[in-house]
Order: sequence, then structure tokens, then C-alpha cells
Amino acid sequence: MAKIFCVANQKGGVGKTTTAVNLSAGLAAQKQRVLLVDLDPQGNASMGSGIDKQHLQASVYQVLVGLADVRATRQRSDSGGYDVLPANRELAGSEVELVDLEQRERRLKQALAEVDAEYDFVLIDCPPSLSLLTLNGLCAAHGVIVPMQCEYFALEGLSDLVNTIKQVHANLNLDLKIIGLLRVMFDPRVTLQQQVSDQLLSHFGDKVFSTIIPRNVRLAEAPSYGMPGVNFDPAARGSKAYMEFGAEMIERIKVM
Ligand code: ATP
Ligand code: MG
Repeated sequence: MAKIFCVANQKGGVGKTTTAVNLSAGLAAQKQRVLLVDLDPQGNASMGSGIDKQHLQASVYQVLVGLADVRATRQRSDSGGYDVLPANRELAGSEVELVDLEQRERRLKQALAEVDAEYDFVLIDCPPSLSLLTLNGLCAAHGVIVPMQCEYFALEGLSDLVNTIKQVHANLNLDLKIIGLLRVMFDPRVTLQQQVSDQLLSHFGDKVFSTIIPRNVRLAEAPSYGMPGVNFDPAARGSKAYMEFGAEMIERIKVM
């Protein structure tokens, strides 16, 4: 049975996609079978995995509205060593179409059931919103990975996400929990970041992953080559950190 995780934070630009792509690659490099689901109309996770979002036969959109299945839609990321359920702008329209479909929050969960036995991990890259798309991700998942930058407003945004997760847990998905908060784009020289990191640890304790992802330009450069940073420059500090995060996740699921 695959363990399914959402990478979610309704704040934009906090490192969700970078985390989803590089954790996928880090897990694949550690012999895990991984499916990365791109649930964002921006299609950044698809592009960052080397999949051309402009020329898709089918995308996660067709899967959600019931016009295609996962097996026919997924593609191999050769650069990353994992499978991708790709997305592009077409997905933006699905919000409206899904509203009229039955089980509208559970469409992704139902679609993923078909390939459950084929993967160890399914990672879902969520869009920066608490929309019906994100809801589909949260309904399908066993847990949520929350990437965050250690900045002043980070904690404020967190309470909205925590409330949403609590509601989904209570009403739609009893399995769902926060697996952990991941400190990303971290720069230890910035005193404020160190302080916010300490606050996170005292508020959330072991819900904070021990791996810290540093700010590292190689991670930002990699997507333009259609490669995860982990494969683009394995020696870079950011790549090593995501490998370490992969190892931490492999340990975490042993006790889930
Ligand atoms: P969105 O909300 O738009 O989906 P996101 O949360 O998925 O954004 P990313 O796209 O992963 O965020 O990252 C935002 C920007 O920060 C990108 O340009 C990315 O390359 C850069 N970035 C992410 N993580 C790091 C890092 N550890 N070091 C340096 N740059 C990073
Ligand atoms: Mg993103």
C-alpha cells in the first residue's frame, strides 16, 4: 500500500513544488517507487520533472473529471526516476466542473486507488489555495507535509491551514494528519529565521522535521533544465538536504 502525502501550504512561493519534486527524486534515489501528482494548474512540478506541460495527451484534469485513468495519464520522469501525473492550465477549469460531480472531494482518492499497489509513496503538489483541488489532495492523503519559510508571518498563515486540516479530518478523511513542518529556504545567518525556527520547535515539537532545507541557488536553477535539483547537482547542499529528508520520510512511515 502506498503512503500518500500532500505537500501543502496556501501561501504562495514557499517551496511546495521544490519540495514535492526533490523529495520525489530523493525517495526514488533511495529505491522507493514514487508517483508525483501535480495538482496545480501552473504545472511547475510537471515541468520541473522534465515533462512538457504544453503537449500532454491527458492530464490530471481528465483524471479528476473521469475522462481518463491514472495508468493512461501518468508519465515517466526520466530525469527524476519517478512517475508523474502531470498538470497544465486546463486544470484551472476543473474547479467549476467538479462542483457538479458526485463525490467531488474524493475524485483523486478514487482515481489513485487503481495504482495503490504500484508505489511506496504518492506525493501531491498542491496549489497555493485552500480550493476544491487542494481538498481533493487532502481527502486522498494520509498526511500533510507543510513547507515553510521561517519568517514573521509564517506562523499566522499556519493556523488557517491547521484549521482546514482539522475540518477535513473531522468531516472527510479520518486518516489525515500533519506529518510535519519542513523548514525550507533556511539561512542560519538571519537572526529572525533562527528565532522563528526556535518558536516552531517549542510550539510544534516533533511535528517539525529534523531535516532543514537551506537556501541554495542550485535548487532554483534545476527546474529550467527540467530536472530535480537532487539529480541536477547531487553535491549541492540543497540536494543533500532533500536526500536526507527522503531518508527521514522513509523512517517516518515505518511508525505510521
Ligand atoms: P506556488 O505557491 O506558486 O506553487 P511553491 O510554494 O510551489 O509556489 P516553489 O515554486 O517551490 O514554491 O518555490 C518558489 C521559488 O523559490 C522558486 O523560484 C524556487 O526555485 C525557489 N526556491 C524554493 N526552494 C528554494 C531553496 N531551498 N533555495 C533557493 N531557492 C528556492
Ligand atoms: Mg508550486
